Parts: sequence; C-alpha cells; structure tokens
Amino acid sequence: MADLTALSISELQAGFRKGDFTPVDAVKGLEARIAAADPQIGAYLSRDLESALAAAAKADTSLPLGGVPIGIKDAINVLGEPCTCASKILAGFKSPYDATAISKLRAAGAIPFGRLNMDEFAMGSSTENSAFQKTRNPWDTSRIPGGSSGGSAASVAAREAFATLGSDTGGSIRQPASLCGVVGLKPSYGRVSRYGLVAFASSLDQIGPIARSTRDCALVLNAIAGRDPRDSTSLDLPPEDFTSQLGRDLKGARLGVPREYFVDGMDKRVRERVEAAIKLCEGLGAEIVDVSLPHTEYAVGVYYIIATAEASANLARFDGVRYGHRAKNPRDLLDHYMRTREEGFGSEVKRRIILGTYVLSSGYYDAYYLRAQKVRTLVRRDFTEAFEKVDAIVCPTSPDLAFKIGERVDDPLRMYLADIFTIATNLAGICGISVPCGFVEEGDKRLPVGLQFLGKALDESRLLGIADAFEKAGAGEVLGTDPLA
Ligand code: GLN
Repeated sequence: MADLTALSISELQAGFRKGDFTPVDAVKGLEARIAAADPQIGAYLSRDLESALAAAAKADTSLPLGGVPIGIKDAINVLGEPCTCASKILAGFKSPYDATAISKLRAAGAIPFGRLNMDEFAMGSSTENSAFQKTRNPWDTSRIPGGSSGGSAASVAAREAFATLGSDTGGSIRQPASLCGVVGLKPSYGRVSRYGLVAFASSLDQIGPIARSTRDCALVLNAIAGRDPRDSTSLDLPPEDFTSQLGRDLKGARLGVPREYFVDGMDKRVRERVEAAIKLCEGLGAEIVDVSLPHTEYAVGVYYIIATAEASANLARFDGVRYGHRAKNPRDLLDHYMRTREEGFGSEVKRRIILGTYVLSSGYYDAYYLRAQKVRTLVRRDFTEAFEKVDAIVCPTSPDLAFKIGERVDDPLRMYLADIFTIATNLAGICGISVPCGFVEEGDKRLPVGLQFLGKALDESRLLGIADAFEKAGAGEVLGTDPLA
C-alpha cells in the first residue's frame, strides 16, 4: 500500500470512491506515520485506534467527509475519549458527550482520531504550557510549533493528520499554522457552535480547521458550521458552501494593508517574505490599498483584561468536586478547593486566573474591565471602517519565526506580544486565515512564514476564495514539502 498520508482530503476521497484504498487503510496509514514520527514531534496526547478502525470499517464514503480521519485538539469533547486540555486538573477525565462540532463531523462521515497537545486550557503561544509534554516544530525539532493548538498544527505539517480541529481565542489556530507551514482558519464568532469546547474566554473562542490546503479547511468548515440550539451565540444563517469561491483569481480583489501591522521589532526576514507575498498578490491582479487600524496598539492589553476576566469565571468550575483532580485528605472544604486548584493548575493558568479576578474585583472593574470593553468596540470599528474600502486585509500572521523551546518561558510579556497580529480579529469577531508564504533560512533549517488574510464577519466564502488564489501562486513550496523527509 502506497503512503496515503500526503494526500489532500479530496484526493483521499477520490481514492475511496474509486476503490484504490479504504478508510481502514487511511487510518492504518496514519497510525503507521504517527508511530514513526510522533516520538520526535509529540503532537498526540492519546489515540483510540480501535474505535477509529471500527468507525472506518463502517464509513459511508459517499458523505462529504466520508471516511476521513480528523485529529482533535484536547479541548474539544469526543464521547468516551480523554479531554484534559493538557491540564493535570483534568487528568483521567473522559468526555461524557460529543461536542457539536464533533457530532457534525460524524454526520458528515468523518472519523475523529486522536487527541492533540495544546497549551494548558489554550493559554499560551508555544504549547510549552502543556502539563504533559512538549510538542516540537516539524521543520526544526529544537523549536516550538506555536500555540495554543500546537499539536493540531504540528501533526498536520508532519503528515500525522490530514486535517485537525483547533480553537482560536487570540490566534491559537492561525499562529501555530503559520509557524508550522500549514493553513489555519478562524471562523467568525458565531459561525461554529462552541458547545463541547472547554471554555477559555467565551466571547472570543471559536473552533476551526487546520489543514494542508485552503480547500481542505473549507471542506471541514462546511461540516462543522451552523446554528446549534445548545450555543445561543451560534448564528442561524442560510446554509453556505464554503468552497464556492475557490479556484478564482485575484483580479480586482481589493486587499488592505494595515500600516500598524508592520511594527518595529518584528523579524526583518518575516517582514520581507510578507512584503514579497503582497507584491505577488498585486502581480496576480489584486489592488493593494493602504488602510489604518489605529487601535491595534491597545489590542493585546484589552485582550489580556477581557480574556483573563472570562477565564477566571470559566475556570471556577474546576473544583475537584464532581470530576477531575481532587486533593487528598483535605482539612475542610476550603482546603479542598485551595489544594485541588493549587495542585491541578499550572503557573500560566494561575497567572491568568489571578489577573482576571483582579480586573473584575470591586473598585477595579470600572478602571479595567469596563474600559477594556469600550476599547474593544473601538477595535471593532476600525475593522468596520477598513472593510468599507477593501474586500480583505492582508498582513503577517506572527511577527516572528518559530522560536527555540525554552527561549521565552520566563518572559510572559514577550510571549503575549507574539499574538499582536491575531488578537484584534477575535476582539472584533471577524474571520481570519493563515496561509504559508515561503521560508526563511535559519542555519541548516528552513522555517515557514505565514501570510494572514482577514475578512469581515461571516465573509468566510470570499476569504477562502482569496486565500486559495494566493495559495495556488505562493504557498506551493511550503505545502508541497515533507518537513521530515
Ligand atoms: N496566545 C494567546 C493566549 O495565550 C491566544 C491563545 C488562544 O487563542 N487560545 O491567550
């Protein structure tokens, strides 16, 4: 049997339908690749091979994702499988139900396969905050894969998954996709149900796909999008085929370049690659327009108030009473809570809970939380104004290349700044995608750079069309290379 793991979703399905190979072959091929590659990469926390093989044996390959295995970030519940959010406080926990995105994947014929490493409770940008293991960047295993969906991105890059689900609160799909040289889509807020995604910051969180092409991301979005009565923030919209604008060109597309997204301190080589990619878009017929997003400089500050405030409330449920880690021999109830949480949470999660509790506390609420909400409105308005002039915004995904494991763990502020180009998207509720735009040579390695396109809320079809047109012209070298070969 030839190696199937490099195939796209469409190629895989064409092979199933012609009878060249079966979904069982696909799961077995993936498992062989994971067994060979994952000892170096560390993307998977666990896998249930037997249930994946059983689902593959029954798969209906006439369905839109029939027989396609999809890897899942460890924050999204899959019935009967562990869901730890890479935290000791949930060690041993098994999901009693499927998240809506998972039941929708199953309804489309897909097979959830494997639990992917992440920063604990999705707090981080390097996957180093996992309580269980490091995940390594397939292009240079001394470097981080990005985060928090680092396992979801590294597995796709290393061909240990065809596509995966991640979640994005401030960049956690797009930034690791960028650093691993794959495609990652953050849908607009309300596009995908959050039911069954362990909540970090409920007004910012969205589930989305990571894959080796824009088309594969669109196919996964087709399956998972839609209104869900269990998530009141999911939107009731007419059904849409997100592949409908793929295969077009960039002629006449108006692309806005925000001057605030080319900051001092960003890696010069990243800047050059991104500028060359924008030139390429122009060469393909796009009209490049200068736009301004003047409140960008406040986005990181606003995010770390709003996201921590929401996290401090959301994480209050992990108290060791009904599930998860439980401290031994507590003296009394308060001691039980305090020691359970002290033992169960890692230091970044504790830092966020303390920050969030502080900004919500009486006397500070008006000065921090309320003010941050007002600035959030200004950030959102910046985008509304920009999208009056342009079809999409084009900019870097991350100011840096993948950095070395351990390099920034003692410098949370520097780590927070890694999300400077992705966070405003979540504050505004709009959609964004990262597509590879080339490599930078670093010693004897090549590290991928990501180009980000941002679209207005619910404009995913157009955004995917633009990203696909760019991908065809500018991403082939990265997407076509096996980093482990
Ligand atoms: N890196 C950001 C944070 O640490 C964003 C994380 C995310 O999108 N989940 O909060």
